[in-house]
Amino acid sequence: MNDVDHTWRPARFLVIAAHPDDADFGPAGTAARWIDAGSEGWLICCTSGDAGGEDPDADPLELAALREREQPRAADLIGYAGFTFLHQPDGALVNDLVLREQLVREIRTWKPDAVLATDPSVVFYRDGGINHTDHREAGLAAVDAVYPAARNPMAFPALAKGGLAAHRVRRLYLFWPNEPNVRVDITTSVDRKIAALAAHASQIREPEKLAERIRTWAAEEGEAIGSPAAEALRLVVIDEDEDEGPDPGLAERTGTETPAGDPEPTAVEA
Ligand SMILES: [Zn+2]
Repeated sequence: MNDVDHTWRPARFLVIAAHPDDADFGPAGTAARWIDAGSEGWLICCTSGDAGGEDPDADPLELAALREREQPRAADLIGYAGFTFLHQPDGALVNDLVLREQLVREIRTWKPDAVLATDPSVVFYRDGGINHTDHREAGLAAVDAVYPAARNPMAFPALAKGGLAAHRVRRLYLFWPNEPNVRVDITTSVDRKIAALAAHASQIREPEKLAERIRTWAAEEGEAIGSPAAEALRLVVIDEDEDEGPDPGLAERTGTETPAGDPEPTAVEA
């Protein structure tokens, strides 16, 4: 399924990112394409990027406020219905119960079919470089929040008692993976991805060069599926689409039976 455009689309999805610009460096093209086709997306930034500078005398609270002011424009370009800052500390993010409860609360509130998060298994990138600790922690917290906590009504019981019922996320899409297994054609949305990145002005020194870099990366991923631009993701299917039904009496009534143990996940169209 890795050499054709991946066309499955969630009705609702949630992107969980460590820093304000991560989602735009990551799966923004996929998010924009899905939203264009009718999906509804929400973005969570675990931190406000308050350590995203090089001046030791800078006020981290001022930087956080500046980065939060940059977010509406970026989110608007991609088309998210909205975004939430969890105000965790940049550079010190930890996959602890506090962060997981925050994420479970967001998942149960937005009720996404799919969650997109950084691939927490990547410490060293295949092509060189180290994955930021916040990306790993945010990714792992997202995985742990999706499964089992969000779907278990007895996890963080105060949430269910307060009206946030358990919710089953059906799929995880991990971005910046070393081992992608799907590629999404972003030919129609790569320009918006670049524009959204440029909206994080405090982080971008040379927007032209960055645009070029994003286009090169997208073109490299696109080659695998014969398209001008793509994003590579690692898909983890938690619940197959057919888990929702069919009506259990149907096979009996019609005499048709799905072969047991069919290895082909029919929900994955690509
Ligand atoms: Zn980051």
